[in-house]
Amino acid sequence: MDLGGEKRRVVIVGGGIAGSLLAKSIQFNADVTLIDPKEYLEITWANLRNMVEPSFAERSVINHRNYLTNGSIVTSAAINVTETEVLTAEGRLIAYDYIVIATGHKDPVPKTKKERLDQYQAENQKIQSAHSILIIGGGPTGVELAGEIATDFPEKKVTLVHKGPRLLEFIGLKAADKSLRWLRSRKVEVKLEQAVDLNSSSDGSQEYQTSAGESIKVDCHFLCAGKPLASAWLNETILKTNLDKSGRLMVDEYLRVKGRSNIFAIGDITDIPELKQGYLAHKHALVVAKNLKLLMAGGKESKMSTYEPGSAIAMVSLGRKDAVAQFPFTTISGCVPGLLKSRDLFIGRTRKQMGLQP
Ligand SMILES: Cc1cc2nc3c(=O)[nH]c(=O)nc-3n(C[C@H](O)[C@H](O)[C@H](O)COP(=O)(O)OP(=O)(O)OC[C@H]3O[C@@H](n4cnc5c(N)ncnc54)[C@H](O)[C@@H]3O)c2cc1C
Repeated sequence: MDLGGEKRRVVIVGGGIAGSLLAKSIQFNADVTLIDPKEYLEITWANLRNMVEPSFAERSVINHRNYLTNGSIVTSAAINVTETEVLTAEGRLIAYDYIVIATGHKDPVPKTKKERLDQYQAENQKIQSAHSILIIGGGPTGVELAGEIATDFPEKKVTLVHKGPRLLEFIGLKAADKSLRWLRSRKVEVKLEQAVDLNSSSDGSQEYQTSAGESIKVDCHFLCAGKPLASAWLNETILKTNLDKSGRLMVDEYLRVKGRSNIFAIGDITDIPELKQGYLAHKHALVVAKNLKLLMAGGKESKMSTYEPGSAIAMVSLGRKDAVAQFPFTTISGCVPGLLKSRDLFIGRTRKQMGLQP
């Protein structure tokens, strides 16, 4: 179709790690609209550091307008998609030639950067004023939060309760063991195979019962359970049959939703068989940026770039100096992986990728 030099309309739904990099990468090649319920991109893996050091959030919470200088930003949630348009919660219909779904995980965070920074200040106050802290959940969020508090506030009594048999179930046993040993060496009390009943403390006393019959009395708690995928909004749309059993969008090797010529998906929402990691979400964004540029320039579909699932690399920070890193053939812990991740949490690198001062 010749549009007489007019740019194609690309709608990106979701301004997380994946959608934001894509929007930034194609903003001068297309008429880009980014739909996101919040006004900012948040570098999600800095969240836990932001809680112990709220000023850190200044660099990891980035207004979309800072990197998307040549595109439209719609601050709302998408609630429906048809063959030609997206509908937002505010009732706006936005037409597209290409659409990219990048809604990742659901996280009810505030709309503005200011409100988000205030939230980190409040969480920090909660930590500062507590002597004893309960962390519920031994996935990456719970482990990283325990590591941050144990490092910055070693005098606080931190208890981490996890219902599974080991920490960090998304990666290998070695990484889990190393993290457990590190936490225990920092006096974090780790209780495995126990669930906390949050309703057991209805009188405001913050004394909780666990499934093993233990009672834990603390000054405050943080619930660090995994977040659900943000794909429920697709359940009644033209893409409902493209969701797999766990709610992920099934994509082909070009990262197009299977069977669709102008609908792509990137980031954690996809069914690509790999660990769900931000650096891989970035790779998805760059592949789709390339493919969209090719298609928009009239290139052949057969010339599109393909995406190969990433290998099982993951890093979990343990405070400011240490980390545990899983590579395909080995797992290491301590200050070497710590140097890679824990000091700056890749914030400078990610900001640079977004075209911003590190
Ligand atoms: C504790 C922790 C540590 C991590 N550490 C690392 C690390 O060191 N390195 C690494 O590479 N990865 C790390 N990850 C993984 C990384 O955070 C994710 O893989 C990454 O955030 C996925 O990006 P995404 O854009 O696909 O999704 P998300 O970051 O979940 O973003 C989704 C976006 O979609 C928006 N959205 C949701 N629903 C709608 C809707 N209906 N309409 C419009 N917008 C919507 C949201 O507002 C959000 O902006 C870590 C994760 C955790 C939990």
